[in-house]
Amino acid sequence: MRLFGRSKSTGTGVVNAELVADHLAQLLRFPTVAPDRGEEPDEACAAAFEGLHAKLREFYPLAFAAAEIDRVGDYGLLLRFAGASAEEPVLLMAHQDVVPTSADWEAEGWPHDPFAGVIEDGRVYGRGTLDDKGALVVMMEALESLLIQGWEPARDLYVLMGADEEKYGTNALDATELLRERGVVPHLVLDEGGAVAAEVFPGIKKDVAVVGVSEKGLMSVELIVDDAGGHASTPPIPSAPTVLAQALLNVDANQMPAVLHEVSRETFVTLAPYMPFLVGRMVKGASRLRKTFTNLLLKQGPETAAMVRTTFAITQLEGSPGMNVLATRAKATLNIRVAVGVTTDEVLEHLTTAIADERVAIQVLERNEPSPVSPRDERFDAIGAAVENAYPGTPVAPYIMLAASDGRHLATLSPAVYRFSPLRMDKAQRAAVHGIDENVEVASLGRGVEFYRSLLTGKALGPGLK
Ligand SMILES: [Zn+2]
Repeated sequence: MRLFGRSKSTGTGVVNAELVADHLAQLLRFPTVAPDRGEEPDEACAAAFEGLHAKLREFYPLAFAAAEIDRVGDYGLLLRFAGASAEEPVLLMAHQDVVPTSADWEAEGWPHDPFAGVIEDGRVYGRGTLDDKGALVVMMEALESLLIQGWEPARDLYVLMGADEEKYGTNALDATELLRERGVVPHLVLDEGGAVAAEVFPGIKKDVAVVGVSEKGLMSVELIVDDAGGHASTPPIPSAPTVLAQALLNVDANQMPAVLHEVSRETFVTLAPYMPFLVGRMVKGASRLRKTFTNLLLKQGPETAAMVRTTFAITQLEGSPGMNVLATRAKATLNIRVAVGVTTDEVLEHLTTAIADERVAIQVLERNEPSPVSPRDERFDAIGAAVENAYPGTPVAPYIMLAASDGRHLATLSPAVYRFSPLRMDKAQRAAVHGIDENVEVASLGRGVEFYRSLLTGKALGPGLK
């Protein structure tokens, strides 16, 4: 098959987007759902990941031949391409694993089998098209195409393909430690997160490239209330579930204070010129009217509210196991996204004060601090320049990512971790990530390859092609 050829989808004639789409469709057919943290992969899981690896080697033979390869964890891959200099290496990341779908995908509402890799009407459909096999494919296509052209990296290039991002990201954690042991400090890390987003803020008609420069912290805690229990015919008042319920109401009623972080202010100020005139003018004044603007974001809806404060989601509830048995223990799980600028200690302190009930025990299941903020310097600009090449005229704005990525682990090693996939996502597509009918435009895959080619050969990171 031809790797190069004029494509209808991109103007450069270097990238054949249809071929990239075909490669992606084939990779989607491996249901690479990672086992739960601490569990061994079963046979089907092993076959999916090994199958994916074999395909990657088939599609990208030069890349796999040129790289020194480390396995991290069961199926994570860390590739190193030796550059002219080992100084200021670059690390590109994309994960292999996907979130599961229901076995009865039709009942769930998928129009196509999520693991069939269907290409239709200029789009590729299936679980992982946007999260994150789409980015993985365009990254590898870019590398392979450059190697075919005889490109040699100016600096060491690492490529990390984690295989358990959706579970915890132990592979990324292991890779971070491996690099740390070897004394490698990436000058720039690029992982998933932002995108070329359409319909991202009300009133903005243009597509906007949002690049994550930090991400919120992630914390899960259990609220536990113990009780003597007994027969349901003689219930005490209050019972364990009532005490727990009151605690949950108190959590909802006592939110942490909302604060507009400097990066979020930058997001809005960068995008202000693309907003309707009056809104744009108001947003530009946001630094002066910070309090008013923050309150406005709080009232706009859950998405903008999550931008300005720590969120508490009640995700699991547990009471008695039988319908005529009193609960001896009532339990709730809170999934907490910690605002940048807040610590997990402060969150615990807040919870204790908000609940204000010693009968409610707070047990921490996991805690990750918010990530440090990456600089908006020449590295951020290098990403911006590559966006301009692939998606001309698209504004580039920094933002704080609300969800968690593998990038958070790397942030303990590198001061410059950026979160951006060079794929276009409109509102429906963004909702399909971890949802139903996940899909990516074929044209966007072509542009994604252009993005990585441009980033790797651009002025900031390496010499251009001769
Ligand atoms: Zn992902």
